[in-house]
Amino acid sequence: MSRGTMSKTCAHNVLVDLSVSQNMSVASEEDLELVIDVINQKIRKFDQRIDIVTSMYDGNEFVVMVNTTPSAIMKLQGTYTPHEIEYFRLLVKEISLAEDNTIRMIQVLNLMNQNQNTNFSMSKSEKILNDWIEEGYFYSDKGCIYLGVRLVAEFGEFLRDKFQMNTCDLCKEVLLKGVDCEAGCDGHFHNSCILKYVAKSSKCPKCKETWRDAKKLKT
Ligand SMILES: [Zn+2]
Ligand SMILES: [Zn+2]
Repeated sequence: MSRGTMSKTCAHNVLVDLSVSQNMSVASEEDLELVIDVINQKIRKFDQRIDIVTSMYDGNEFVVMVNTTPSAIMKLQGTYTPHEIEYFRLLVKEISLAEDNTIRMIQVLNLMNQNQNTNFSMSKSEKILNDWIEEGYFYSDKGCIYLGVRLVAEFGEFLRDKFQMNTCDLCKEVLLKGVDCEAGCDGHFHNSCILKYVAKSSKCPKCKETWRDAKKLKT
């Protein structure tokens, strides 16, 4: 967790090892959630919270450390230099405004290289970007960079207000990749949200039309 983000499986395994070493019954996934609740009560006063979030890109679950300071800039101060924060801000802006909310890694590095304010070499830019990918702020796949689970958890409100990013019509959180209404209304939903929903109803949560292929979503 030193990086601020770890897979839920990994976090659960740590708890399992701990419970076994203490001769306790093997920790379940519910135990993990209970432990996180207890930790959250303790760290709330430090403006921190641990969330379990689902990646919109690969569907994997992650445990992320979220800085709950209301000011977006204050979340980064103290951890990063002003130049790094400028890089971070530029990157979030470029990705948020890009079509499909993704940009190519090479574009990112060129952007930083050309930017007077960040003043980073190619290799320095690459190193910082890789750190942020590990920390869950960004996600990379096939040479493209996306906003990561931690960034969405921590800066969701900022992304919605500042860049008018799409939101899921079920949970109202930022939506980067998901499912559109099958009947053609403008409803958009996270995969994980709509999967839970169609288990109970096959009508669109927004326009209430029946989705004939709702069952297919489950696979
Ligand atoms: Zn949702
Ligand atoms: Zn609909």
